[in-house]
Amino acid sequence: MIPRTTTSWQQQLSEAFTRVEDLFAYLEIPGKLMPQAQRASRDFALRVPRSFASQMEKGNPEDPLLLQVLPRAEELVEHPGFITDPVGDRDHTEAPGVLHKYDGRILLIATGACGVHCRYCFRRHFPYGESNAGKDQWAESLELLSRSPDTREVILSGGDPLTLSDTRIASLVKALNEIPHLERLRIHSRLPVLVPERITGDMVDWLTLGRLQPILVFHVNHPREISERLTDALAPLRARGITLLNQAVLLRGVNDSPETLCDLSEVLFSSGILPYYLHMLDPVRGSGHFDLPEARAKHLLNMVRRRLPGYLVPRLVRETTGAPSKTPLL
Ligand SMILES: *Cc1c(COP(=O)(O)O)cnc(C)c1O
Ligand code: SF4
Repeated sequence: MIPRTTTSWQQQLSEAFTRVEDLFAYLEIPGKLMPQAQRASRDFALRVPRSFASQMEKGNPEDPLLLQVLPRAEELVEHPGFITDPVGDRDHTEAPGVLHKYDGRILLIATGACGVHCRYCFRRHFPYGESNAGKDQWAESLELLSRSPDTREVILSGGDPLTLSDTRIASLVKALNEIPHLERLRIHSRLPVLVPERITGDMVDWLTLGRLQPILVFHVNHPREISERLTDALAPLRARGITLLNQAVLLRGVNDSPETLCDLSEVLFSSGILPYYLHMLDPVRGSGHFDLPEARAKHLLNMVRRRLPGYLVPRLVRETTGAPSKTPLL
């Protein structure tokens, strides 16, 4: 049975680690790393759900899950070319929180909130307060979508759209279903991976009851992020034939080996998820230490291609300001 109540995931989000000291104590991280963590968290706050922290190895500051969320001194080092709006989103905002960069698809920043703070997040400096589509109860974004007859797909992104309550998303999805030229509803979310209880019965309902074909795109970077609880929680989505995809970001120290990338694809597939994109890091200020040269990225992907069937090889892409799509590198 899938629980019908939503208190459980919401409670988990409210209990996430937000204080550096608490995360350090729980994971038994050496105290000498604490002052720098505190300094870096002033620029972009720490946020780690407890269920995600419970998948990390205690006493290991280099744990690949921890590295994604732990504020570090490296973030305070300036890297040339690493800026606050690396993908030019601010120039493509047609209405608050509405991004229309590519033909046929419109992306709504449904909320600025997220269940976790990834240190490499390309929106870590995005002015969410002034740009999010939910502010006006969706009226302006729905109006804009209605006036864009070439748009077949609406993408709910963020932040993380699944931090919104099922009631709020269901009412938005209902309104989207009434826009005749829309055909697909895509949700970009990391939350179910962090807190599998987010996949509620109500969520399965609003995803599948309407006319729009649903697609869920997760964000998993390392095979250890996929727990048995997640695989079980995904069962009702698989049973309803919902397309499940994954996008990962290639990150130094986290997933930059052929073994890890191959494992990631295998583990995703065994949970019913297909690899979609492997993104090059967006050069956002504070994330330079995660960056890998393009030649290394191509080499890694070629190694993956030798070992796995084609459908388990993600597309290696970079987001380039002004380009009409994500740019494939291979
Ligand atoms: C990445 C992105 C999309 C989706 O691109 P796909 O190649 O269809 O996955 C759409 N809109 C914006 C603004 C994006 O950044
Ligand atoms: S889940 Fe996505 S939006 Fe949220 S902090 Fe991580 S990268 Fe940013």
